[in-house]
Amino acid sequence: MSVRTRFAPSPTGRLHLGNARTALFNWLFTRRHGGKFIVRVEDTDTERSTKEFEKNLLEDLRWLGMEWDEGPDVGGGKGPYRQSERLSIYKSYAARLVDNGLAYNCYCSRERLAALRNDQVARGLPPRYDGRCRDFRSPVIPAGIEPVTRFRVPAREIRFTDNVHGELSFETSAFGDFVIVGSDGVASYNFAVVIDDALMEITHVIRGDDHLSNTPRQILLFDALGLSAPSFSHIPLILGKNKLPLSKRDPSGSIGELRDEGFLPIAIVNAIARLGWSPEEGLLGLDDLASTFALEDLSSSPAIFDIERLKSFNREAIKGMDDAVLFASLGLVARDKLFREAVSEIRGNASTIPELKDIIDSVTGPIEYDEDALAVLNEPYAKTVLTAFSDETSIFDLLDGTAYNRIIAEVRKKTGEKGQRLFLPIRYALTGKKEGIELVNILKLIGKIEALKRIIRFI
Ligand code: GLU
Repeated sequence: MSVRTRFAPSPTGRLHLGNARTALFNWLFTRRHGGKFIVRVEDTDTERSTKEFEKNLLEDLRWLGMEWDEGPDVGGGKGPYRQSERLSIYKSYAARLVDNGLAYNCYCSRERLAALRNDQVARGLPPRYDGRCRDFRSPVIPAGIEPVTRFRVPAREIRFTDNVHGELSFETSAFGDFVIVGSDGVASYNFAVVIDDALMEITHVIRGDDHLSNTPRQILLFDALGLSAPSFSHIPLILGKNKLPLSKRDPSGSIGELRDEGFLPIAIVNAIARLGWSPEEGLLGLDDLASTFALEDLSSSPAIFDIERLKSFNREAIKGMDDAVLFASLGLVARDKLFREAVSEIRGNASTIPELKDIIDSVTGPIEYDEDALAVLNEPYAKTVLTAFSDETSIFDLLDGTAYNRIIAEVRKKTGEKGQRLFLPIRYALTGKKEGIELVNILKLIGKIEALKRIIRFI
């Protein structure tokens, strides 16, 4: 059996960490087994679904490096891949169930259903349909009411083995006859998913824990339609550090925002791969992750998303970047070899590209000197250090590492200063700040002429 999986987002929001992780686990599993990964857009909620969200979701997924074999934009033999374009398929299957007596039309009014629900809740019972229209045989169809189609839920126990949670069992008495097609002719989530998973020949459903309670209903539908159910894996929810679930409304959770903040796709992939799974340490490529992915290794307890972990993967990703790519992402031209060397060395200080750009700009851009800087720079000992520094610097053409070590050694010898009293005046004069990247890298970034200009001001 060749593996076929699907990622089935609803285009009602941006791609967030949760659904990106669902997509990733599907993608990794599929690649591991040489199968086909399908994107299906679940856009039957016409009020909340937008084309814009669909476009963003697909763009973000592609940006993360996950290509798909079939989907709304790439086509494939089992389309269409948007549920809104499949409504007639669902209706024909619903009609088949009604003909077989496995589903029925229900004419109960909204008011009756609301009253029923209120009454059940007031009595402490789980709200569910009481089956009034189950055996409704009137030759006269009630006028003015568009019926919904309900599935006739048989009384039975449903058992299945989830790859993450193990053996599970549910009693159908926990839920009433549920709607499979609404009065507007739109299939319900549970019905559409079952028809689609069957017709698209999905072999493995990997999705969030929040769908676990839907699975028994879906299994009933697979059985009623004479279709075989896929294998199920329900992956644990992702919680924030506050132990509350991340949602697509969570501002820190959207992939687009993380991209805007300067996080790289491979860092995000590595961070989300660790939410419920523990591959080996370190920044791994998508193919490396895929080569060891196994559903049995997924954890069933909630995963905690920690932004610090993402930052540390991003730092690793920046360190591993090719120089040309690094300079292109910084929007910088490498002025000379020393400048390039310095950027390469200081990249480890930043957890994002914009942060690295800020560090470079803070050294190369206009410098401001605050009171603390001026207080030090106006001290006589500071002027002595800066004079010696300027004299020694003038001797060298290029301020590389060797030149820097010689200059500092000479200034130390000439002035007798060391530690803070040696370095602080130089650092303050060059950058206006007390702390920052190594002095040698500051010199490499700004070059001899600019360095001397900054120093001489304070002599
Ligand atoms: N459209 C559903 C969601 O976004 C996914 C359904 C499924 O994976 O079965 O939550």
